[in-house]
Amino acid sequence: MATYAAPGTDGSVVSFKPRYDHFIGGEYVAPAKGQYFENPTPITGQTFTEVARGTADDIEKALDAAEAAAPAWGRTSVGERANVLTKMADRIEANLEMIAIAESWENGKACRETLVADIPLAIDHLRYFAGAIRAQEGGLSQIDNDTVAYHFHEPLGVVGQIIPWNFPILMAIWKLAPAIAAGNAVVLKPAEQTPASIHVLMDVVADLLPAGVINIVNGFGVEAGKPLASSSRIRKIAFTGETTTGRLISQYASENLIPVTLELGGKSPNVFFDDVAAQQDAFYDKALEGFTMFALNQGEVCTCPSRALIQGGMYDEFLGQAVKRTEQVKQGNPLDTDTMIGAQASNDQFEKILSYIDIGRQEGAKILTGGEKADLGGDLSGGYYIQPTVFEGHNKMRVFQEEIFGPVVSVARFNDYDDAMSIANDTLYGLGAGVWSRDANTAYRAGRDIQAGRVWVNNYHAYPAHAAFGGYKQSGIGRENHKMMLDHYQQTKNILQSY
Ligand code: NAD
Repeated sequence: MATYAAPGTDGSVVSFKPRYDHFIGGEYVAPAKGQYFENPTPITGQTFTEVARGTADDIEKALDAAEAAAPAWGRTSVGERANVLTKMADRIEANLEMIAIAESWENGKACRETLVADIPLAIDHLRYFAGAIRAQEGGLSQIDNDTVAYHFHEPLGVVGQIIPWNFPILMAIWKLAPAIAAGNAVVLKPAEQTPASIHVLMDVVADLLPAGVINIVNGFGVEAGKPLASSSRIRKIAFTGETTTGRLISQYASENLIPVTLELGGKSPNVFFDDVAAQQDAFYDKALEGFTMFALNQGEVCTCPSRALIQGGMYDEFLGQAVKRTEQVKQGNPLDTDTMIGAQASNDQFEKILSYIDIGRQEGAKILTGGEKADLGGDLSGGYYIQPTVFEGHNKMRVFQEEIFGPVVSVARFNDYDDAMSIANDTLYGLGAGVWSRDANTAYRAGRDIQAGRVWVNNYHAYPAHAAFGGYKQSGIGRENHKMMLDHYQQTKNILQSY
């Protein structure tokens, strides 16, 4: 086990600036209203930097810069853009440790996740879209002897992007990579809980891009996010966050008929069929590990498998093992490399999760393990830590229906296949799902029948760049990742030419 030094102390691989302004037109710009807000680390609760508090005036300035940059960037060759993305990936890789520790410090997540998952995945996304834009083809059809129709792709121009705090760097790159690969200029608003990570990222890559291609305006939702999403100067808004916020974004954008991509909340079922317990072997062990995925990233994952559905024949035995496995999930200092789960990202989130644990208790769900805040002592006693918690109950309870976004799973029993599908689909969400079965037919049918944009079969929480990701029902509109994402950032031009 290694422990990274806390930023601001001797030997740290990261040094945050005392203050972060907006990044507009290739330079740091003070907020129009001159206001800043404090940014604490959830690891100890202490403020470590302050951040410009953006308003509509700052958004207008960023849109000016993006509009100035968009035409020339949109005319660059795909090869040129692909090279920029590749160089961004290389730079991030060369600074991986620094960016990973910065993100852990600001978000509270375990550095083993940021070091081996979040930042490497972001790098992979950049490389994937560098390849995808080069490989993209247009089309040509002959209409008659004298006429051809040809189709090609044009960038949209200036796009707005608003991201959450749970994977700050990865969410930024998921959005930026396809947008700039397609030739757009971007105004991005980070979450108010995790803006500094985005500036650490920009400090590493900004000089690779022409000024104004990526602009970052910090700030809060209504003050900075709303003017961006409501602007008639953007050609698209891409949003990741809560379903309730997604509805608002959709309303703002509809005023100007601006297309939206919405990546929203979830309440994902993780379905374990009886045949998992046919043998106590590596597959069984993998399924138990799959159960504990609800605690990964402190449960702050849109696809958190927060409803575990276990078939009656193995219910007691499997659940007993799953609870034991949950108790082995190591919670600790996020800067220790053997910590599996760290701190919740903010005090608000911490309080919200604890209030849901109370709601579960009040509605009669039984707590099988956890259910309390965790005091890790020393410097960490001011941080926001919650024990991984397993509830047992039924699917009509609020803890089965509402997104808690914490290390909390609600477990219910099912009898047969139809029962499993009916419980799994009894939710307003449809983002992710897990299916565990040794039987290929059962696994295939469940993958087909669960109403969710991503179904993991016999695995969970993998996010390769070439697999499309997005929600059914109230979990979203549109998809991210996969080369199809380029279509969301481009218009199709058709020229019908006679000769
Ligand atoms: P949130 O909706 O509170 O905030 C997300 C972003 O929207 C932030 O930048 C915030 O400042 C901004 N915002 C808030 N109100 C706004 C408004 N009125 N106008 C414009 N912008 C506004 O969500 P959160 O708490 O940051 O993130 C957690 C949520 O994100 C969860 O619901 C989670 O499931 C979801 N999420 C979804 C995905 C996905 O890919 N589907 C990925 C990660 C997180």
